[in-house]
Formats: sequence, structure tokens, C-alpha cells
Amino acid sequence: MVKLGAASLVLVAGTAGAATQTVDCGRLLDVKAGVWRESVTIQVENGAVKSIEATTGKGDVDLSGMSCMPGFIDMHVHLTTQTKPQIDVLRGQVTLDAIDRAYDSVAYAERTLKAGFTTVRDLGANEGLNIAMKRAINTGAIVGPRMFTAGKTIATTGGHADPSNGQSRELRHLHGTPGPQEGVINTPDEARQAVRARYQEGADVIKITATGGVLSQAANGMNAQFDDAELKALVAAARDYGFKVAAHAHGAEGMKRALKAGVDSIEHGTFMDDEAIALFKKTGGWYVPTISAGRYVADKAKEPNYYSPLVQPKAAAIGPQIQGTFARAYKAGVKIAFGTDAGVFPHGENAKEFAYMVEAGMPALEAIRAATLGAASLLGQANRLGSLEAGYAADIVAVAGDPLKDITLLQKVGFVMKDGVIYKQ
Ligand SMILES: [Zn+2]
Repeated sequence: MVKLGAASLVLVAGTAGAATQTVDCGRLLDVKAGVWRESVTIQVENGAVKSIEATTGKGDVDLSGMSCMPGFIDMHVHLTTQTKPQIDVLRGQVTLDAIDRAYDSVAYAERTLKAGFTTVRDLGANEGLNIAMKRAINTGAIVGPRMFTAGKTIATTGGHADPSNGQSRELRHLHGTPGPQEGVINTPDEARQAVRARYQEGADVIKITATGGVLSQAANGMNAQFDDAELKALVAAARDYGFKVAAHAHGAEGMKRALKAGVDSIEHGTFMDDEAIALFKKTGGWYVPTISAGRYVADKAKEPNYYSPLVQPKAAAIGPQIQGTFARAYKAGVKIAFGTDAGVFPHGENAKEFAYMVEAGMPALEAIRAATLGAASLLGQANRLGSLEAGYAADIVAVAGDPLKDITLLQKVGFVMKDGVIYKQ
């Protein structure tokens, strides 16, 4: 059903989208107006949308039987890691190098793009892998979504994202104590230093772990892990460099401290209470739910030895709560941007999140808006991403059927274009 013009064939090869091409869509979702536009032709030039008009039926790409939408944006992924049983994680730590992890992650990036996610926000990796991956995608060396990345997540000693957690005393002695360069801080001065180190390494956003987390080798998954002075320094330094701040939080106390300090988004938000909801509304902070990760770890917690003895009870207690929290936050009017925590579950399954959101009471159109308009706004890219209109990036996904009637269709994306280049059809 898809016919390819010569220009498109060149673009499939992954060259920069210098050519002009036209895409005929059976219908196109106008995410701003919340309506389908029937039978349109999208003219693409230099990787951007030039115009959208009533179809000529003679486009280079024939999606006349399909529903077109702006490329999806996942605001919380970890493209350079993927879940494995604990024994394999440990084996990898003593037998593999960062370069092995980098090679593995090439496939994760490609899967994510081909699942319809043309943009992601990568919220943390060790060893600069996510920054190197962003560079490789931008130069065309590997295939993947447009990346905005935090580089190394910032944590406190022993906190969620301290890279030395779970290591023996001897190993910690061997590797040295991680400090601000490695994203571990314990004072406001170190907080500033860690943010500036992210600037230096080429990050786009700052990620902090405002509370304990599920998958770190540490006892508490919910406790507050920065004091107010550290949070204030983190956010102030981030502002100096034009960074937004994303705060991982499960427990309410750490979440509220982070919101009061002015972070831009709360990730997971598991034990959000009424006071936290009020703070979201007062500060304009976004909620990035990651229901997918919650459900996945809750399932895996039932499997013997998948997680370590420290992690298993946290996964069982925290994982099942997130979908309910999402339902309450949505009803209360908290701003929601789509995010999954992919990597905690296999990459490429990001679109399941849409179905979980709809299952929890959000209309399908709103779920798609969370992954387009909402996410683009939180990224600070609302004038370029998250919608298909003249001047926006030519990021187009298409499915057969009507995803507003059956949201699970988004798990079967049949066509993906990013920056005017076709990656799947
Ligand atoms: Zn995460």
C-alpha cells in the first residue's frame, strides 16, 4: 500500500532530509484542536513540515489508509540499560565493560524509534553512555529517536543513583568514592559542582533522585534524600545553565521538598498526597507517571530471584501503586506528560503506557496529547515538536484504524518518519 518516490528511497537510507517529499494521510490528528483532519497531504522539506493541505492523492508516500499523528515523545527512558535478572546484572558488572553496554544499547534506540517514539528524554546513565548515544544518533552513526538527556543522574551518598551502591567495601575502595563528577553530592557546593559537570559533559536536562528508588541496592525506596539547601542549590545552578530539572520521587516528603524547590517535573510520584497535589498545581510542576515501570516491577517481584533481596520488597510495595496515583492526579487536574521509564522494562514497549493511562480513566485523546503537546511543552520544544503543522519537525507516525477508539493500536505503529527520514513502513 505504500509507494515510494525516489526522494523517499534516498531518505530511507538515513541521509539528512534535504529533499522535498509529500506524504498522503487518510487522516491526520490535529492534537491542538483534538480532531481528525480527513485526507491531507503533508509536504516535507528539509526535515520539517512545509504545509498541510487537502490531499492530491499523488504523494511520494501513500498512507491514505492510515491515521497519522505527530511522533510520540517519551519523557522518561534509560536507553542504555535494559532489565535483566539480578544474576546477569552481577555477572555483567564483573565481566563486561561500558563499551559492551554501549553496543547492546544500539538496538534499544532503534526499537524505540520504530515503536513510534521519535523523541525521548533519557533520564540517567553511568559512564556518559547516554550522551555518547545522543551524539551517535545526531551524526547518523546509529538509528534512534531524537534524544534529550540528563547524562548522569544526581544523587546523594547511598542514594538512588549512587553508582557505588551494593558494592563490597573492597570494590568501593578500588573505584574510589564517587563525587560531584560522578553525580554524587552531599552539600550545596557539591550540588552546584554536579550540575556544572553535567553542563560540561553535554547534558540537556538535570535529573535528581529526590527520594529512594526501587532498583537501587539500598534499603529504602521512599525516603527524602536531599535537604532543602541542596535542592535549592541544584535548581539555582540548573537555571543558570538553562536546564530544566526532573526529580525522581516515590515518597511524599521528598516530592514536596522538590516541588517547593521549583523542579519542573516529578517522575513516578508514587505516594503523592493531597498536599503534594496542591503543590503541583501551585508550582505548575508536571507529573511523569511511568505506570509501565510500576506494573513491570510488580510482576517481576513475584518471580523468585529476579531482583535482589533488597530490591524485591520495594518492587512489590511501590510498583502496584503508580497506576492508582496516576488516576488520582489526573482527576485532580495535575499536568501530565507521558513517560514510561523504559529500560526498567524492555525497550520498544513504550506504547503500552497509553493503554494503562486510558485504563486508569484518561480519554485516549488526552493520553496522546500527554505524549505530544504535553511532553513537548515540558521539554521546552513546544514550537517545534509535538504537533504536525508548518514549521514543525517532520516526525510522523501512522497506524491502521482509529486509536481514539482503540488505544492499543498505538502498540502497532506501521510507519515512522523522524526529521523527514523514513525509518519504518
Ligand atoms: Zn528512571
